Amino acid sequence: MERRKFLKSAGLGIAASAVAAPAIAQTTTMPEVKWRLASSFPKALDTIFGAAEVVSKRVEAATDGKFQIRVFAGGEIVPGLQVLDAVQNGTVECGHTAPYYYFGKDPTFAFDCAVPFGMTVRNQNAWMYVGGGIELMRDFYKAYNTVQFPCGNTGAQMGGWFRKEIKTVKDLQGLKMRIGGFAGAVMSKLGLVPQQIAGGDIYPALEKGTIDAAEWVGPYDDEKLGFYKVAPYYYYPGWWEGGPQLSLLVNLNEWNKLPKTYQSILESACAEANVFMMAKYDAQNPAALKRLVGNGVKLRRFSDDILTACHKAAMEVFEETSAKNENFKKVYTHWRAFLDEQRLWFRVADKAYDDFTLNPPKAKK
Ligand code: CA
Repeated sequence: MERRKFLKSAGLGIAASAVAAPAIAQTTTMPEVKWRLASSFPKALDTIFGAAEVVSKRVEAATDGKFQIRVFAGGEIVPGLQVLDAVQNGTVECGHTAPYYYFGKDPTFAFDCAVPFGMTVRNQNAWMYVGGGIELMRDFYKAYNTVQFPCGNTGAQMGGWFRKEIKTVKDLQGLKMRIGGFAGAVMSKLGLVPQQIAGGDIYPALEKGTIDAAEWVGPYDDEKLGFYKVAPYYYYPGWWEGGPQLSLLVNLNEWNKLPKTYQSILESACAEANVFMMAKYDAQNPAALKRLVGNGVKLRRFSDDILTACHKAAMEVFEETSAKNENFKKVYTHWRAFLDEQRLWFRVADKAYDDFTLNPPKAKK
């Protein structure tokens, strides 16, 4: 009797552990993976730097702490403008950056971020996620042993900080301005002298007068970086950045080594950061703009003279670059056709809605 009872309970025991086994087995086969992420941005910028932290936290939480990505600020492992190189050569497994910083290697990188008079955040997401942009850019990135994921957006940016008022194209002559790759190429056609400087290094250059003007992002970040203390004129719009996208760049070998589950979690975490960064900027910019104006900042719209000349110069740069760079031509042709279609649609509902709601008629008394 005792023996039969024992066997019976032992049998139940086997059945119970057989049911529980798959869940246990799955947990124990999830490998521990530790990555380093090099950001192009300083820690103080909780929006743009923070997007990498959103990714890191989500990945850690979704893998029960098994997949950890440690985030390093610009300059900690590599300088902010060398993140692509660090990812490509495997110094770090991944990096968070504005791909147009690598315009000097190949202007095609700019489509993974922003080009002058280009896409808004809505257009960019449509092109990337649905319109074939991600796939087209992944073909291009292969030569750099890198795979990329949209991972943040700032929305339309401000045109930046100027020590002196600029009214006409003539006022741009000889002006030294911190402005990134593609926009720099456009501005130099109009006599401006562009400088590429990482976020954390702009203020000292502007303060010392090494540069006369600088653009970064928009009110929330720009206030933190303190530009208003040394350059009072704040221009808009940043016509070179209608909706710049940040990207997570991952070393292709490291990506291929990841379990499929981790790949999927990382991709989702980047999409989350893409939404979160835009939301954070949009939520924080209005109050920052009010504080800046309260501190004596002189808000100015770029004149039509300047915008028209910059637009003309930008179209020339698109044509010239297409003529000498096959990568650029291939992506630009696809991108341009997609954007033209986008604008056809955005002229209808969104534009009419914005035109009316942003300037509603005053009620008659
Ligand atoms: Ca900018």
